[in-house]
This record gives sequence, structure tokens and C-alpha cells, in this order.
Amino acid sequence: MTSLAEQIRLLAGHIRAASRLTVLTGAGVSAASGVPTFRGPGGLWKDFRPEDLATPEAFERDPRLVWEWYDWRRQMVASCRPNRAHEILAAWSHRYPSFTLVTQNVDGLHERAGTREVVRFHGSIWEVSCWRRCAASPARWREETVPFPELPPPCPRCGGPVRPGVVWFGELIDPDILERARRAVDCDVCLAVGTSSVVYPAAALLDAARERGAFTAEINPEATPASASCDIALAAPAEEVLDRIEGLLDAEPLR
Ligand code: NAD
Repeated sequence: MTSLAEQIRLLAGHIRAASRLTVLTGAGVSAASGVPTFRGPGGLWKDFRPEDLATPEAFERDPRLVWEWYDWRRQMVASCRPNRAHEILAAWSHRYPSFTLVTQNVDGLHERAGTREVVRFHGSIWEVSCWRRCAASPARWREETVPFPELPPPCPRCGGPVRPGVVWFGELIDPDILERARRAVDCDVCLAVGTSSVVYPAAALLDAARERGAFTAEINPEATPASASCDIALAAPAEEVLDRIEGLLDAEPLR
């Protein structure tokens, strides 16, 4: 079996040679910043599972409860900072002319690290939209109040509740975002970093990249359904693996 050091050298070689690099990220990238993942320790809030709160039905039933969870997450993320993994991906987004980062994360930490070309597959907790989709409101808008003085926060135009600007379980991905993500997987190297690879359609992107001829790699301390089908699976934390790859790329800069 190849050692982690050899895997890192191999992956660094592929990244160095790539003209088109795409990185797919999930909650694990933000774990070292202190943002809990959904699956794994700390994934629960009170006694609720994310799958039971992040749905239109849950919001319909109890908008205040759903907003208490999002308000708590917004407060937590506001006090977190991007970690080494975010910083390296941000640096790559400037270094590689053809780089795309497709993230399932809604925390905005990639943007705060200065990443260019972020495709927000599941939206952002820093945006909201009118739950009734009132005609006077834009489709969604940025809203950074933390914490909200009133839950659910009211729509400034119609006074009805607003909802978080994220894609909930059972909802469709914005077709433009889906199209951008599909274009991005047409690349030379595709990395899936810190995702459990169980939430579709995001989980299908790594396979799509491989089918189009990309070299595919997973970075995740735990095995996932993608581990067996990608070209290499590096079983270690994102912040460590990316830092070691960056060290090798630095030692022998891109031509
Ligand atoms: P997930 O919670 O299902 O899985 C997280 C994965 O990260 C796990 O496989 C875990 O082994 C791995 N992981 C933990 N620490 C890691 C580290 N240091 N380095 C690399 N990997 C690590 O997350 P997902 O696959 O993104 O789940 C899907 C849904 O969860 C998405 O819809 C996303 O919007 C939502 N989510 C987002 C955030 C966020 O924005 N930070 C947080 C929690 C969940």
C-alpha cells in the first residue's frame, strides 16, 4: 500500500501538471475552523438531526425552530476564521488560470479567505429570501445581522417570514449553478475535499470528472462512497494534506 507521503507527492505532481483544476469541497474543510460537520461528532443541534431541520416541510411546520438553528450556526460561523485549507485553495484560485471551486458549504469561509470562482452549490447562510416570494422582494439578498432580534426575521417588504438562502434537502439546485458545476468537472484534476459524498447531486460530480478523463482524488480522514472509485484517496485532514502539497508545489514552482 502506498504511504500518505507518496500519495501526496503523486497528487502534487498531477496538480503541478494540470491546466484545469477543480476542487469540490464539503463541511470537512471548515472542521478545523471550528464549524461542525453534519455527519460526525458535533453534528447534532439540541436533539435534532440536520436532515430534520433543513427541509421546506420543517420550515412550514416551525419556522422559529429552524431559524433558531440557523441563527446559532450564523453566530458560530461569524466567530470562526478560515483555516489553512481555505487559504491554500484561495491561493490556488489566483495561481491557476483555469480553477473552479465548487462548494457544498454555506458558511462563506472560502470567500472570506479570498477565493476566486466559488460556485456555491447549496447557497449561503449569509443570504435570505422571502418565504412567500413576494413580488416586491429580489429572489434573494445578503443579510448579515447576527443574531437576529426577531425569529423568524420578517421580510422588509411584505412582513412575512424570510428563509435562509440555502438549498434544503428535497429542493432543486439552481440550474445556472448546476451548469457551472458541470462545466467545472471538465478538467484535468478534480479533488473532493472534506465531503461525505452522500448528498446528491453534489456527490455525482467527482465521478463525472473521472468519466471525462480527469485524475480524481479524495482528501478525507474517513472512507466515503467515493473512496473506492476515485484514483487516489488520501485518508488525512484537508488542512494537513493541502499544506503538504503546497509545500511541494512551492519547492518546485509551476512553469
Ligand atoms: P458532511 O457533514 O456530510 O461530511 C463531512 C465530511 O468531512 C465527513 O466525511 C468527514 O469525515 C470529513 N471531515 C471531517 N473533518 C475533516 C478534515 N479536517 N478534513 C477533511 N475532511 C474532514 O458534509 P458534506 O459532505 O459537506 O454534507 C453535505 C451537506 O452539509 C451540505 O449540504 C452542506 O451544505 C452542509 N453543511 C455545510 C457546512 C458548512 O457550510 N461548513 C457544515 C455542515 C454541513
